[in-house]
Amino acid sequence: MTAGLRRRERGRLSNYGNRGETMGKNIVLLGPPGAGKGTQGQRLAEKLDEPHIASGDIFRQLRGQDTPLAQKVKGYMERGEYVPDDLTIRVVLERLSQPDARQGFILDGFPRTEPQAQALDNSGRSVDVALYINAPVDVLVERISRRYTCPKCHAIYEASRRSPKKEMTCDVCGAPLERRADDAPEVVRPRLQTYLDKTRPLVDYYERLGTLVEIDGAQTIEVVEREVDRALRLPAG
Ligand code: ADP
Ligand code: ADP
Ligand code: ZN
Repeated sequence: MTAGLRRRERGRLSNYGNRGETMGKNIVLLGPPGAGKGTQGQRLAEKLDEPHIASGDIFRQLRGQDTPLAQKVKGYMERGEYVPDDLTIRVVLERLSQPDARQGFILDGFPRTEPQAQALDNSGRSVDVALYINAPVDVLVERISRRYTCPKCHAIYEASRRSPKKEMTCDVCGAPLERRADDAPEVVRPRLQTYLDKTRPLVDYYERLGTLVEIDGAQTIEVVEREVDRALRLPAG
C-alpha cells in the first residue's frame, strides 16, 4: 500500500474524532493457525499505523541465520512445536521495545501460552483488546493447504483466489513466494493440537480480564475485517 493511502486513512480516522479511542492501542490477535490473524493484522496495521508484529515471522527470520540458536528454533518449528517460553518472551519483548511499537502494537501469534501472557502483562505493555478469530477445523486445514507467503515482506496469498499477478512472485516486493514448511499437511494436525492444548486457554484468560472480543473467522475476509473494525470502534470503511 502506498504512503499516500496510509496518510489518507489516518486523516479519515482523526476526522471522525475518535483518534484517541482507536490509536495507540495494544492489540493481541488470538486464534488457531489459518483463522486469518495475519490477514487481518496486516490490514489493521495500515489503518492504525501501528506495527504488525508476528512472532512466527520473527522466528522464520531468525531460523535463516547460521547460529546454534537458529538451529534450535528450526527444530521446534519443523515439528510444529512451540518454541520454549523463555526464548519466545525474550525475542518478542525485545521487538516491542523498539520505537515503532511505543504508541501501540498489533501482536499476532504471541502470547500463545499463559506464561507468555503473564510476561506481557508484567512488562507494562498490557493488552487493551484481545481479538479472538476462530473458524472450524476443516476450514483451517483447507486454508492452510492453499496458503503462500512472501518470505521478505510477509504478504499473504492463496492458491486460486487472491493469487499474485505474476505466478509465484510477490505483488508487493517482487520476491519469489514460498509455501511454509510447517504448512505441510502432516504438520498441520499437530500444530492444531498444540494450539488447543496450550493457546486455547488464553481465550479464558483474556475473557477474565474483560478484554476479549470473539469474531467469526469463517466469514469472508471483508466481513471479518468489518467486524474487527467495529470491535475496535474504527469508522466504517
Ligand atoms: P493465520 O495468520 O491465522 O495463520 P492467515 O491470515 O495467514 O492466517 O490466513 C491463512 C490463509 O487463509 C491465507 O492463504 C489467507 O489468504 C486465507 N484467508 C485468511 N482469511 C480468510 C477468510 N476470511 N476467508 C478465506 N480465506 C482467508
Ligand atoms: P501459525 O500459522 O501457527 O499462527 P506462526 O507463523 O505464528 O504460525 O508460527 C510458526 C511457528 O513459530 C510456530 O509453529 C512455533 O513453532 C513458532 N512460534 C511462533 N510464535 C510462537 C509463540 N508465541 N510461542 C512459541 N512458539 C511460537
Ligand atoms: Zn513480498
